[in-house]
Amino acid sequence: MAGMTLCSVCERQVRGKAKVEGGASTSTVDGATTTAAAAAASEACALCFGTLNPQFVARVAADVGRAVKNDFYDVKDFVLSLNMPVSLILREEIVKMRDDLGFAGTLASVPFRIRAIDAYIGALYEATGLRPTKCSNLNLTITFCNDEFLKPDCDFLLDHFPDEFIMPAKKMRLAEPPPIESLLTKVKVLSIASRLQADVAKKFNFETPTNNCVSSFELSRDPIFLAGRYCKFSRNLPQSPWTADDHAGSGIVGGSVSEQVCQFLKQKSLADVTRFTASGREDIDVRMLGEGRPFAVQLVNPRKKLPEWSTIEQEINRTFNDIRVSFLRQVTRAEADILKIGEEEKRKTYTALCYSSKRVDPVMLAALQNKAPLELKQKTPVRVLKRRPLIERPRNIFQMHALPIDDHHFQLRLTTQAGTYVKEFVHGDFGRTRPSLADLIDPESEVDILELDVEMVDLEWPPGNITAQQPVPNGLAK
Ligand SMILES: [Zn+2]
Repeated sequence: MAGMTLCSVCERQVRGKAKVEGGASTSTVDGATTTAAAAAASEACALCFGTLNPQFVARVAADVGRAVKNDFYDVKDFVLSLNMPVSLILREEIVKMRDDLGFAGTLASVPFRIRAIDAYIGALYEATGLRPTKCSNLNLTITFCNDEFLKPDCDFLLDHFPDEFIMPAKKMRLAEPPPIESLLTKVKVLSIASRLQADVAKKFNFETPTNNCVSSFELSRDPIFLAGRYCKFSRNLPQSPWTADDHAGSGIVGGSVSEQVCQFLKQKSLADVTRFTASGREDIDVRMLGEGRPFAVQLVNPRKKLPEWSTIEQEINRTFNDIRVSFLRQVTRAEADILKIGEEEKRKTYTALCYSSKRVDPVMLAALQNKAPLELKQKTPVRVLKRRPLIERPRNIFQMHALPIDDHHFQLRLTTQAGTYVKEFVHGDFGRTRPSLADLIDPESEVDILELDVEMVDLEWPPGNITAQQPVPNGLAK
């Protein structure tokens, strides 16, 4: 072991620990450690970089303990991951090939990762009160940094594997190309190590680190995906917040379906972020009726378990007058993704209150139902041209029924392919949708749409049996 400084923990794990004498916690080859320097050097170790030092472990655990107490996670356990410095990973790989070092015992037989986790779990349990386990929805990742050997490590490997360190041309063209050691990643080290020859490994110099590792950590809980359906009873409430390129931005916070639902869930779960997705969207002045529109919400890093689904539904529906959520349940990420798939195939059913400039002819209206199914050619409507490219798309009307209300008004019921611009189908959008409803009833008349409601979005949602609503007792059950 000539030339290698080990801390007392690593030393203990190596056969022949007799080197440690007189209570010194660090053994050095040159014996130059002074009393004053001894404390500072006590974490110095060419193998673990001081990460196994009990005082260091206690400090890291205390930091984590404070964070856990301030963060309100209502869990009893966690999964621990440790990110070790790249230089340390390289050294462990080389140590394995160095029979000349005379390592035996735990250090030779147990991977460093296991020894490190073993060094931390007890202290973390004590500091946090949470049980370290292999399966939990709370993840604690501790990252240790020490980059003082990145350059020499890189130079060492570069001598034998020059082809592994070629900076991509794109990065070389940057005003300040990144240093070559930025290519030395954990994946790269492990890939090179598997091809490293023993005689090359013998040339590696185990210098002692002069800096302690810097540690940082992250606590994060697995996201929750919720699925449900929403109804919207207002003609003055958008599905999502106005964005800069939407017209007439009202800018009212909470003035949308997604904000109302998400604000509530965020408050209950103390999640960092909520992400709302829905199967399509209705215009602000269109009501969403029937069983509602399928939606999903992702809660990122939730701290608290959610109440039962029925309680959430009741509270949301009591809090907000213009929306109603139902069929709430937890789904997997893959299930939540179904919302974005097959968008074009979904059918939607609408009812519309329409006005005709010419007197309504009941016979013409009744004849409408025989004109479906029908394919339309729709150019991007004038009203959304600012946001969408100008294209012409075919869209299908599957069913069509109309009932007269009075001389100039009638009710229209349509089942269409998703993505059909219904308002434009009714009034024709200056000839940009062909045929239009006016074309079908009486090309001489003008027809306009006064009110539109979505009656049905045809998607089995939430996935599975939507009638068997089983509230999960603790909303976070995996
Ligand atoms: Zn050590």
